Amino acid sequence: HCVRVCMAASCQSSGAGAVLDGLRQHAEQDAEGGVHVKSVGCMGLCSAGPLVSVDATEPKTEVMYKDVTPDDAAELYSSLDGDPLERLRCSTDIPFFARQQRIVLKNSGVIDPEHIDDYIAAGGYASLVRAVTERTPADVLREVKQSGLRGRGGGGYPAGLKWSTVAMAPEPHKFVICNADEGDPGAFMDRAVLESDPHRVLEGMALAGYAIGAEHAYVYIRAEYPLAVERLKKAIKQATKKGLLGRRISDTTFNFEIEIRLGAGAFVCGEETALMASIEGLRGQPRPRPPYPAEEGLWECPTLINNVETLANIPAILARGGDWFKGIGTEKSTGTKVFALAGRIANSGLIEVPMGIRLREIVEQIGGGIPDGRRFKAVQTGGPSGGCLPEEHLDMSVEYDTLRSAGSIMGSGGMIVMDETSSMVDVARYFMEFCMTESCGKCVPCRAGTVQMHGLLDKIAEGRATQTDLDLLEDLCDVVQATSLCGLGQTAPNPVLSTLRYFRHEYDEKLRPES
Ligand code: SF4
Repeated sequence: HCVRVCMAASCQSSGAGAVLDGLRQHAEQDAEGGVHVKSVGCMGLCSAGPLVSVDATEPKTEVMYKDVTPDDAAELYSSLDGDPLERLRCSTDIPFFARQQRIVLKNSGVIDPEHIDDYIAAGGYASLVRAVTERTPADVLREVKQSGLRGRGGGGYPAGLKWSTVAMAPEPHKFVICNADEGDPGAFMDRAVLESDPHRVLEGMALAGYAIGAEHAYVYIRAEYPLAVERLKKAIKQATKKGLLGRRISDTTFNFEIEIRLGAGAFVCGEETALMASIEGLRGQPRPRPPYPAEEGLWECPTLINNVETLANIPAILARGGDWFKGIGTEKSTGTKVFALAGRIANSGLIEVPMGIRLREIVEQIGGGIPDGRRFKAVQTGGPSGGCLPEEHLDMSVEYDTLRSAGSIMGSGGMIVMDETSSMVDVARYFMEFCMTESCGKCVPCRAGTVQMHGLLDKIAEGRATQTDLDLLEDLCDVVQATSLCGLGQTAPNPVLSTLRYFRHEYDEKLRPES
């Protein structure tokens, strides 16, 4: 038997470490038993952790256990050769697992993220070795373009186009940056991917470097993700030792070195020009674009910046081809998307679904619906830059363009579900407070505008506002959106605008008559 214990941050925080120790102790005492107890990354169903999966290879049956405590370890271990322990069993046939399609999360919860051999045994680094030994950079680039992959960090810009711009730049020095500065409230996709399968991201970065002609790369990751940082460091060391990163990869002339840079938790450093300033040792503040990083980026060199999930898709695209990837999802949003499902939902956790899936399927089937018999009210996508979608949009197809036309965005993949008890004015106020606190202060519309908008939302929420205040709030939304320097300010009004669009009555109900 192979017993896998989820040791991603969520399960660890609910005591998975002690479960792992307990099971390992039993396996050591039972040396003849042939039981291998393994620490793995996120299995997805975070709300039911600690999760343990028992995978008997003959016949192929996987039994998953949820809410396992250290006290359950002995009973669980002794059940391995008998019937599954029904008391803790979590069916893997439930829609939460059955309706997902895993590309980025394929190894997540299956391999040990701290052992490169596990990744290699699962086919890892094969795309890189094949690329550097048998394919030209143009070939790799063509495959990525063909896949139709769009940036998973929020903007949805075509990855192939961005790669081509950097590849065509004549400058000799170029950089690759992996943006792991995930900061949206409720979002933990990048953290989970890095904790669960760090080599996949490193391989994607090396393939990007090969395609565009870069030999140096940075992972910019927030220091609040200590487990992901530790696993990344270990992964870089292991891959370098195996000749899969560093100098002369696979005995070719291709060199690729990756360094880690820690962010100090400023949300604005997820904005690419602020991120580059931070790597350069400067204050993490955005600058106007153009020039775009692809033309003039880190130390004024052409720089490719992609987020964790975008890069994690690359090894699979190279292994199976751009056409294969293009066949998943929809015409304009190809592939899958990882979402962090949170809020008032039965199954919260990490999911990966094909683009084009209905929002209703995510909420009601994969997410298991709203607990405690309450009614669904809205789903917030895209974090502070996104918006809240009401029930009438549940049958909408989840794609970049449909979400945008409904007043929200795909964003990086945070999805927060709200029930009938949530006040949408409070939700807008919460996100505005976030933007106000995180504003870097460089430009006036965002620095002063978010404070003013937050003050007005406070007034409305507390029943002190009149129609004039609400009109002023709407005017400010337009001004801040149109005149802020970077995405933070430009999108800060979105939660207000989308809640006003769909839940205006909740604002109106709180207004008092003009005096
Ligand atoms: Fe800074 Fe906000 Fe201006 Fe962006 S919009 S540069 S976060 S003040």
